Amino acid sequence: MGLFERVKKAAERLAQGQGRPRRLLPGWKLRMVGDQRQAETSNADGRDIVRQEAGLPKPLFKPPLHDGCRCFDSPALLDDGTWVVVWQTRNDDVTCTDPYPVPWGETQGCKEMQGRVISEGPYFGMPVEQARVIAAENAVEGPTVEEANEELGQVLDEYVAGRAQGRW
Ligand SMILES: [Zn+2]
Repeated sequence: MGLFERVKKAAERLAQGQGRPRRLLPGWKLRMVGDQRQAETSNADGRDIVRQEAGLPKPLFKPPLHDGCRCFDSPALLDDGTWVVVWQTRNDDVTCTDPYPVPWGETQGCKEMQGRVISEGPYFGMPVEQARVIAAENAVEGPTVEEANEELGQVLDEYVAGRAQGRW
């Protein structure tokens, strides 16, 4: 493959986000997720809007579970490139274990909600550990963003060097 073709191919591959989606999240999306973390000081609804604008899925069910519930939620990225929102508890001695109805049946309080996927999509209601295992099985093998970036950088360097030498 000629150098120009390699530059084109490397750029295309990066642009199309082929390969392992875990790391092929476009840079702008990662930045938005970063911005969203800063924005988390605002109220929960505002936070959800920012998250959804950043491409994170919508929680179908959210804390609080009950009066005085201290639970919160946080986003997680799975190996198949899927973002999920996960229920988090303080998980201490006073975390409740009383039964409550939830969309997938019943939960033994906040204790059992710890680590549950609460966003829409195929992992809804699942413990995030289980979702991680399934996602890893579904992950597509391919170049990472770093690898694709590096490859593009290398061929561009070759191009610039060749040009400086008057080769094209
Ligand atoms: Zn709670």
